[in-house]
Amino acid sequence: MPVEKQAGEAQTSIRAAFLNHLTHTIGRTLENSTPLEQYRALAHTVRDLVMEHWITTVNSYRDRDLRIVSYLSAEFLLGPHLPNNLQNLGLTQDCTAALSTLGLNFSEIAVQEPEPGLGNGGLGRLAACFMDSLATLQVPAIGYGIRYEFGMFRQEIRDGWQVERTDKWLQFGNPWEIPASDACFSVGYGGTVEMVTDESGRLRPLWKPGQCVRGVPYDTPISGYQTNTVNRLRLWKAEAIESFDFQAFDTGDYMGAVREKLVSETITKVLYPSDDTPEGKRLRLQQQYFFVACSLQDMIRIHGVRQRPLNEFHLKWSVQLNDTHPSIGIAELMRLLMDVHDFGWDEAWEVTHKTFGYTNHTLLPEALERWSLPLFAELLPRHLQIIFEINRRFLDDMRQRFLNDDEKMRRMSLIGEEGERSVRMANLAVVGSKAVNGVAELHTELLEEETLHDFYEAFPKRFSNKTNGVTPRRWLMLCNPALAGLINESIGTKWHTELDELRGLEKFAGDQGFLDRWEKTQHATKAELAKYIQSTTGIAVDPASMFDAQVKRIHEYKRQHLNALHILSLYCQIKAQSGLTMTPRTFIFGGKAAPSYKMAKLIIKLIHSVADVVNNDPDVRGQLKVVFLADYSVSLGQRVYPAADLAEQISTAGKEASGTGCMKFQMNGAVTIGTLDGANIEIRKEAGEENFFLFGLTAPQIGDLQRGGYRPRDFYERNPLLREVIDGLQNGRFSNGDRALFAPLVSDLLDRDSYMLLADFDSYSTVQEEVGRAYGDSPRWGRMSVLNTARSGKFSSDRTIREYCRDIWDVPVMSRT
Ligand SMILES: *Cc1c(COP(=O)(O)O)cnc(C)c1O
Repeated sequence: MPVEKQAGEAQTSIRAAFLNHLTHTIGRTLENSTPLEQYRALAHTVRDLVMEHWITTVNSYRDRDLRIVSYLSAEFLLGPHLPNNLQNLGLTQDCTAALSTLGLNFSEIAVQEPEPGLGNGGLGRLAACFMDSLATLQVPAIGYGIRYEFGMFRQEIRDGWQVERTDKWLQFGNPWEIPASDACFSVGYGGTVEMVTDESGRLRPLWKPGQCVRGVPYDTPISGYQTNTVNRLRLWKAEAIESFDFQAFDTGDYMGAVREKLVSETITKVLYPSDDTPEGKRLRLQQQYFFVACSLQDMIRIHGVRQRPLNEFHLKWSVQLNDTHPSIGIAELMRLLMDVHDFGWDEAWEVTHKTFGYTNHTLLPEALERWSLPLFAELLPRHLQIIFEINRRFLDDMRQRFLNDDEKMRRMSLIGEEGERSVRMANLAVVGSKAVNGVAELHTELLEEETLHDFYEAFPKRFSNKTNGVTPRRWLMLCNPALAGLINESIGTKWHTELDELRGLEKFAGDQGFLDRWEKTQHATKAELAKYIQSTTGIAVDPASMFDAQVKRIHEYKRQHLNALHILSLYCQIKAQSGLTMTPRTFIFGGKAAPSYKMAKLIIKLIHSVADVVNNDPDVRGQLKVVFLADYSVSLGQRVYPAADLAEQISTAGKEASGTGCMKFQMNGAVTIGTLDGANIEIRKEAGEENFFLFGLTAPQIGDLQRGGYRPRDFYERNPLLREVIDGLQNGRFSNGDRALFAPLVSDLLDRDSYMLLADFDSYSTVQEEVGRAYGDSPRWGRMSVLNTARSGKFSSDRTIREYCRDIWDVPVMSRT
């Protein structure tokens, strides 16, 4: 049969190419190579196949001459490339078979890939899911970001505490990247702005930077699923302009010669490991300006290659700002157009404000980026002038429209005057963009009504919602092959690119035969995670117990400690009533805390203390287990999301912008216990309220309670179980008698409780009881699980990207039919 012959050919050629790379690229024989070397040979083999598509994509985009989407993001949390690229090429089975003819195991080789951890969490992962969907929908797009030499720290746990270790992901080279030395640019910092007369006799500002570095691009091909499209992720590395200063060297100053290289390269050394708390550090502003300045120069270069006049820049580019991190791009494009390309102000503004779109990612007021004015003036003096001028014109305009409402002008100004004067990056991003969006319905509503209300009143049409999504290729097909296989058998494969097709599963939700297979599949996936837990933590967990998972960054607003308080309350109940039985549960935690975030680190310690108490008490044997999985990452997520029965999405209502973890869980058939926050609201609406466990105060109720003088101590006094738990934390019952350990946590909860754990505790516990009962009723749970997957179609990032293309970027998507 011709099809089989083709498959055989693919196997043969993969095998030959692999052996060829092992010899010629790696310099080993099959017999004396390590799994890491075999991984590198295989990565090169697969990259070669991807590169062939890259070349054809470049040509096809040139012929179509479409607008290009430029996605600017300080973070891209990609996850391993190898299995994803193989899946996109449709070669997973051929590759596995080819390796096994050599006596090699594909999975053992694939786990060797170091994960490029170039992001903190949801925001960086969103950028990666978007790159996947853009390529799959064949939209011409370039992702621009920073090639951090050290990505997100590796998390180790010592005695229950988080310890940070450097992530040396580039140590053995990165076969997925290609340096593009033909597109290097220089980036200036500091110095002065002088007024000079140009050839035509005009007086104009000239920025003379005090320091210059060079940006070198490294390209990673991003393949689409079953298309020939391969897009480009271009990450910039900082280097010294003169990597070796010979003059200094000649005069004997060897150290001085190397110093400039060191200073320049520092800019892209390390990712800031903070999530939802910006660090107002000089180096961070240098990083942001560095990658934005390189990217805009690159876009202008490409624009020139396409032989387009610059006043058409916005017709050929749509630039999306992933949060405010790249928002300095607005001032930089103004500067490039005016100071380098001779545009007047109005001409430059016309292009600039039609180029950018801004995505807001946070409702936490403390997380809105501001830069101290003196720092900004020192590092980017010309940009500050431009921002002042944007602000002057903008406020003049607003003053006329809002009749000298001074309070409003103060709120809308790009410059904050309270405390130390600062540049407000969110205000700059809104004023300089054609479109502003939130990332879930509630989030956008709160932006419009509260956080950015003044701007919404001024430019209502600029605002829209784009609910986040995740790619079903990585987050269902790749991470849960067993479930994906069952779905393929039942409804075919169209859902791979049209996720709404999962609705076809609804008709099986009452079919006992199907539910049995669904449950068996789920059990096997849980057994795999159980093996991983055993091997990494030494803790034995039972795959028949309910897997109750909370994996995400550790943050007070996400309330991992509410989960921990509830586990302790179950423990206290079991201790108080011998013979009490409950649905057996395994609580699974994972997540990193920002290294400087004391309370988040204490929450990690709390989880480990709870685990110690619960896992080692014979009275609770067979009922409760608690595990913390260290070093949460995309690859670890790929193990946890598919194995969960229950997803914990328990943030304080009004604090989580969207969340995307919730979507990965739902696709894989987990049922959610959650508040009315972020995308939970839409997940519940899609799944049906009977298939979602809702608890807690709503965002307006949280607001009311806070304004009315919230007294957490009242809740503590009213609920005896809660009191027992908190007293236990205070008197050392859960910390081997150490009374000081959790004192900061307890006093925060009793005196402030900004995230309202105590107000929600009762409701959470009650609904958790209902969860336990539901899990005990297998047909009921199975039905809920199937319906969650069946109704997760909305949360494909393909849908999100289609909306951005239609409403913001104005670019066509390719229809696949
Ligand atoms: C999806 C994902 C996140 C985001 O999780 P939330 O639950 O939405 O906060 C963070 N980290 C990784 C590695 C992820 O894959």
